[in-house]
Amino acid sequence: MNSFTSPNPENLLTDQALWRTGAFINGQWLNETPHGKYSLKNPATDEVLVELPRCKEQETELAIQSAQVAFEKWRKTTAKQRYEIIHRWYQLVVEHKEDLATLITLEEGKPLSEARGEMDYASSFLQWFAEEAKRIRGDVLPAPKDGQRIVVLKQPIGVCAAITPWNFPAAMITRKAGPALAAGCTMVVKPASQTPLTALALAELARRAGVPDGVFSVLTGNDTRIIGGILTSHPLIRKITFTGSTEVGRTLLEQSASTIKKCSMELGGNAPSIVFDDADLERAVDGVMASKFRNTGQACISANRIYVQDGIYDEFAKRLAAKVATLKVGNGLDEGIEQGPLIDLNAVEKVESHIADAVQHGATVLCGGQRSDLGGFFFQPTVLANVTAEMAITQEETFGPIAPLIRFKDDDEVIFQANNTDFGLAAYLYSQNAARIWNTAEALEAGMIGINTGLISNEIAPFGGVKQSGLGREGSHYGIDEFLEIKYMCWDGLLTG
Ligand code: NAP
Repeated sequence: MNSFTSPNPENLLTDQALWRTGAFINGQWLNETPHGKYSLKNPATDEVLVELPRCKEQETELAIQSAQVAFEKWRKTTAKQRYEIIHRWYQLVVEHKEDLATLITLEEGKPLSEARGEMDYASSFLQWFAEEAKRIRGDVLPAPKDGQRIVVLKQPIGVCAAITPWNFPAAMITRKAGPALAAGCTMVVKPASQTPLTALALAELARRAGVPDGVFSVLTGNDTRIIGGILTSHPLIRKITFTGSTEVGRTLLEQSASTIKKCSMELGGNAPSIVFDDADLERAVDGVMASKFRNTGQACISANRIYVQDGIYDEFAKRLAAKVATLKVGNGLDEGIEQGPLIDLNAVEKVESHIADAVQHGATVLCGGQRSDLGGFFFQPTVLANVTAEMAITQEETFGPIAPLIRFKDDDEVIFQANNTDFGLAAYLYSQNAARIWNTAEALEAGMIGINTGLISNEIAPFGGVKQSGLGREGSHYGIDEFLEIKYMCWDGLLTG
């Protein structure tokens, strides 16, 4: 395969019916709206992939109304029926993994090998939550009075709206739709306008799996504020589940306040990665590589600040830079590529500005540091040494392929530095001393801690952050609670004697 997308990118798919170019509302494909179309581009080539219809008020309203109608039936299905449908969806997603991965690479840019990894991760949520549908349990509690019983039910919350980011076009949808549908809720999804094709292919597979009309709808378009404004203020929407930046999350929370919606927020991060003197150095280098350079650094749990203890700093920096310099950059569809493009020009400019600010304040470039010779949105994987707490790169989420190395002396100092941020999504630490690991892990203000690993995402673990990194958890047996309401019945008059 060469570096150019074919003139008909749908030809790259084995099942070309997964190339969907319309919104999916109430089980119907809507290929035109009165509002025209917008162009979707491939970030690796900057070529237009397709034109997609713009949804606005009317289409969003239709999706919500049909989700409400569908909810009345879907909520009454048995757990086993929901299991069977969601599990069939899972099987179809697994069967079409290669096509879905190709769509991810085309619209998002990540290398095909990583896109396949995302599809394994994405499908795992459908499998997991299909099973969890059968495990929604109530409770019977001891009552305060004779003749009373306290009975607790869990019921689906209602119509949910999901707003998702571009960096994981499949997984950020299945991590929400899996538990929502399993709980008996229906869902309207607004995927990122830069990556709707994967969402639409997932909708096509949901349809084939027997997900009823209106239970899962996908809106297309780039009139984001209009769609978002309706989703967050509509009285029929009972729940907003959002993944994206903290800034947008804050706006959506404000907009949801007037109708008191239940909200889950998976927001931005500024993950510290701490390498102690007693770490297994090779493992630490590999862990930092995995967490920092996955998806070209465009992951919310990407290591954003790498603290390395004085005694091993120089050796760690040398080994990391040597490995990073070998990373192969290019079009993710090409064989052997390890780093795709950044998503757009804004992303490239942010990376450049962080490097310029760091260098101006005394950082040194150990490798990379510039736009790639490939042009476009490609950037050289970069390692910076002598980074300090004052630089923009340690204070903001970079979302790009730069590993900034910060030297530290003792444990208390690094814990203070690591926590000195408004964010608290993931943190990583590398050590072989159990007491130090416990103390540090307990002291770190983060929702997730990777210990001697840079890869922490899976369907079994509760994913989510503290502080301004979010509200709620996704995945795991905790994840379904976000889509359930608790109802309690106080049942009196049960004395028989
Ligand atoms: P973003 O700009 O916040 O966008 C995320 C989604 O929100 C997109 O669908 C976007 O639509 C939509 N959106 C933007 N402004 C909106 C508004 N005013 N009303 C309603 N919707 C609006 O974030 P991004 O650039 O796509 O993703 C990167 C961010 O996501 C990073 O901060 C990253 O850390 C975070 N993230 C967090 C997690 C997590 O699990 N915690 C996972 C992945 C990413 P358009 O595409 O149409 O603009």
